[in-house]
Amino acid sequence: MSRDPIADLRRIAFLLERANEATYRVRAFRSAANALAALPTKEVAERARAGKLTELAGVGDVTSRCVAESLAGEEPVYLRRLLATEGSDLDAEATKLRTALRGDCHTHSDWSDGGSPIEEMALAAVELGHEYLVLTDHSPRLKVARGLTAGRLRQQLDHVARLNEALPEGFRILTGIEVDILADGSLDQEEELLARLDVVVGSVHSGLNDDRARMTRRMLTAIANPHLDILGHCTGRMVSSRPAGVTGPGDRGHRARTRAESDFDADAVFAACVEHDTAVEINSRPERQDPPKRLIRRALEAGCRFAINTDAHAPGQLDWQRFGCERAARCGVPADRVINTWTAEDLIAWTRR
Ligand SMILES: [Zn+2]
Ligand SMILES: [Zn+2]
Repeated sequence: MSRDPIADLRRIAFLLERANEATYRVRAFRSAANALAALPTKEVAERARAGKLTELAGVGDVTSRCVAESLAGEEPVYLRRLLATEGSDLDAEATKLRTALRGDCHTHSDWSDGGSPIEEMALAAVELGHEYLVLTDHSPRLKVARGLTAGRLRQQLDHVARLNEALPEGFRILTGIEVDILADGSLDQEEELLARLDVVVGSVHSGLNDDRARMTRRMLTAIANPHLDILGHCTGRMVSSRPAGVTGPGDRGHRARTRAESDFDADAVFAACVEHDTAVEINSRPERQDPPKRLIRRALEAGCRFAINTDAHAPGQLDWQRFGCERAARCGVPADRVINTWTAEDLIAWTRR
């Protein structure tokens, strides 16, 4: 029994609007509903079958997927996730998530492109009530961000070991890296080092305009790498605005600019994350907000784990986790799917799995 796709699209638009989501997103669902309403019912079904809905003005990938699901008699995933969070107090849910977080798995120091020494980042994390901070400076090929060579990373590991002896009881810096996912999907650091680190975040920083097939292959190869624990800011997008005052030193490489999402097969990527138990990062940076909520919902639906990270390049930015928590709460991400709600011991046991 198929559902009424137009009614489903209008319902989604209504729920988005009520949740105070961006106008352009609401409009996307309304214009798709209007485009379909102008056609004979039979043609809608035919176009859906032939994969030709997106040829219509006003119908995009997301809306055509909803239509296909409706016609197949399923409640569209997009609608289901909106209904799941409907009526819940999102502020309370976001606060609950934030309170559940015990640490941050993606941070930078002045060893790469951050603005502050490791110890200052650590002390700010202690102040925030974190139990751990994973230090993830960049890898060698990211020269603009002064990525660490194998030699410098080894020095950093010794330095972190010394710092940990002096830090307050109950808090520790965990070792890590934000390793570049290279063009062929390999990771930009020596295997022996990747094996030694507590947490490995892997991100695409170059060739973000790779075509869909190439980018998908590249990401799948990285996800299948047993050293990769977290897939960082998966679309690479930069959204237009950032809140006032969010600039300054320690923000190198993250200047305001916009960039479209990379194109990849999100279903294949998230399925691989589930298969290899790789967590999907919810990057809290205001200019990134990556992945977008529709992809967080799809990753959740696929069964992925998440890490709500700040990608902080300065101590004050460690408090940005609440932005990621708000986005996660809007998508209905429960705390038990978020790896940084775990203790440091559990986290390390998982990364050594
Ligand atoms: Zn990055
Ligand atoms: Zn980063």
